[in-house]
Amino acid sequence: MKTVLVVEPHPDDTAIMAGGTVAKLTAEGSRVIIVTVTDGERGTMDRNIKSADDLRKITRTEASRASEILGVEQQIFLGYLNHDVMFEKELELKNRIMGLIRKFKPHIVMTYDPYGKYEPNPDHRTVSFATYDAATFSHYHLECPEQIEKEGLDTHIVDEVWFYNSPGPNASFDVTDYLPKKVEAMSAYSSQLDSMIEEVRQRLHSAGYRAKFLESGSKKEKILNLWVYPSLSGGRLVEKFRIIRPFITERVGYLLSSNLVEPAV
Ligand SMILES: [Zn+2]
Repeated sequence: MKTVLVVEPHPDDTAIMAGGTVAKLTAEGSRVIIVTVTDGERGTMDRNIKSADDLRKITRTEASRASEILGVEQQIFLGYLNHDVMFEKELELKNRIMGLIRKFKPHIVMTYDPYGKYEPNPDHRTVSFATYDAATFSHYHLECPEQIEKEGLDTHIVDEVWFYNSPGPNASFDVTDYLPKKVEAMSAYSSQLDSMIEEVRQRLHSAGYRAKFLESGSKKEKILNLWVYPSLSGGRLVEKFRIIRPFITERVGYLLSSNLVEPAV
């Protein structure tokens, strides 16, 4: 049993990138908490949605439903402005995430890979770096000392950081058994997926292409074609991660492959 703190830039990121893994972790008894930094409240091309506040109400309801499907214990919404989580917000965000790490004391912190190539979305870039930094330094008592002196929190060592959407994965999990849960959780994000599906359709059209499944296919067919089939490997659903053990992987990795270290009993 592990405690896993997932920090996602947008409400649908985790379901799309790691929904099968989260469903597997919770089914096997792990405790998963999701921190959702923005509400994806500006990500729509639907002119019937008149304001970001209106969309926020929809996405929070959808996110809560998806988390319930995946067995998530708690979801925390930070309410940052969608698409505006620029690097100037990183320090403040890092400190808030550090507080959440110290509160929930996760073994694993999961987020977007900060080193994704040509990542176009500033929310993805900033949240991933802020989370990585928070997980790297949450055990230092002189980092955010007010959290310890005034908020009743204490330092905590994060054992592993798992990056999804990684250009250099070093771990993969067969989550085929959780494919239905993943699709169900993704389907809960009706407003976000409808918008992305429409954007793909319009961008294809702009580039001189069309895909019939985007025009007349069922919602499930669209989800499978766009997000699930590309993840299949030999007919199995495989989700991949870059797993880092802060400091150990980066600084003293040779210890683990030497006879200087042995499993603690
Ligand atoms: Zn996202």
